[in-house]
Amino acid sequence: SLALFFQARRRQRLAAKDQFEPRPIELRSDEVLKGVTGLIGNTPLIRINSLSNALGVEILGKAEFLNPGGSVKDRVALRMIDDAETVGLLHPYTGSRIFEGTVGSTGISIATIARARGYDVTIIMPDDVADEKEKALHALGADIERVRPASIVDKKQASLFSSFCLSPSNICSFLNVARQRALEFGRKFSSDRLHLVQAPSSMVVSTSGDEENSDDLINKPRGFFADQFENRSNHDAHYDGTGPEIWRQTNGSVNAFVSGAGTGGTVAGVGRFLKSMNEQIIVAISDPEGSGLYNKIKYGVMFDSKESEGTKRRHQVDTVVEGIGINRLTDNISLALPIVDDAFRITDVEAVAMSRYLVQHDGLFLGSSSACNLLACIKLARKMEWKEGQTIVTILCDSGNRHYSKFWYMNVLAMNWSHLMIYYRNDEYLEK
Ligand code: PMP
Repeated sequence: SLALFFQARRRQRLAAKDQFEPRPIELRSDEVLKGVTGLIGNTPLIRINSLSNALGVEILGKAEFLNPGGSVKDRVALRMIDDAETVGLLHPYTGSRIFEGTVGSTGISIATIARARGYDVTIIMPDDVADEKEKALHALGADIERVRPASIVDKKQASLFSSFCLSPSNICSFLNVARQRALEFGRKFSSDRLHLVQAPSSMVVSTSGDEENSDDLINKPRGFFADQFENRSNHDAHYDGTGPEIWRQTNGSVNAFVSGAGTGGTVAGVGRFLKSMNEQIIVAISDPEGSGLYNKIKYGVMFDSKESEGTKRRHQVDTVVEGIGINRLTDNISLALPIVDDAFRITDVEAVAMSRYLVQHDGLFLGSSSACNLLACIKLARKMEWKEGQTIVTILCDSGNRHYSKFWYMNVLAMNWSHLMIYYRNDEYLEK
């Protein structure tokens, strides 16, 4: 009967289950964590089985998508806020508001932590960023302002605009809007004092002399412009956290570190830390189409005439990769440049295809920058002709669920497959 059939099936399934060893209990932490910020960092390193088996080289990803705010940026947001509090620029529950210009991840991280620390948040983002990031920000109670991105600027202005748009002097830039809003916020509470505060090397503290330290001022609401691109705390989060974690998790046996650069904080912090432990470790950047870093590292200049087409493309049409690639030198990127050994150009097609490959072969549903990073790992392993015994570590920055409407919406069949032939069809390394 049917009942007997199901009983038999159940017995079979249980027997099959018993063949597996019970999983040892491994906790990320034995302590009871103090609130949401306790969940940040200390992420596991995961072996990317499909690529490691195919290449013979160990490809390990730092599972940053496990952070409570969903990305590697949690570490940076926490460090920026902690550092600002430590030097007395921010005081919890004083009605202060944090402002940031971001393509989303940093905003979500800041909003998550700010809620737990009693700050309000305003996020300025370009209006071509994937919608789910805005939805997450809404859910976290952040105020959002979307500004016109360079991608929709009039064609005549495009070439001028592309280099100009992200420049710190341009008011259209989402960063400048964020800085401006922080300033306006401060002015609401004090007509004669500038309440824009910035934590980074270019620290702007507004008021004059001793007044700044008086209790009266400390309790006043402030506008804090986090400024992740120039803020040294960004680098420090990775130099003191991500880098040492990778070193410990690999017992120091890491041959290369691969990372994309959006602000440059990750590559600068992790790269500098790993080099300080062993200067033989190769640090390489994965750079999406239209970004100037590849050229900067290969040829010493961000643009050449050939690349300017690509640059325009990025700013007019934009790439589907979000979070990495940049066309100007931030403080954090400048910190990284002396220790970066190599760079790999990653096309949209490759990134989209790689993300699908990882779902199919590893069950890993990752965001666009993670896909770029893993492609750069393959390219590095091939270039070095590494076959076995080496380990490359990279960052799995966020999960695919931040990218449904843009990156995961792309149909790889509708894209130009010619690039893929190199990596997915004729590639002996990817054959199992
Ligand atoms: N991946 C994603 C999804 C990001 O949002 C960012 C940050 N913009 C990065 C990678 C790059 O990190 P970093 O800013 O440290 O260069």
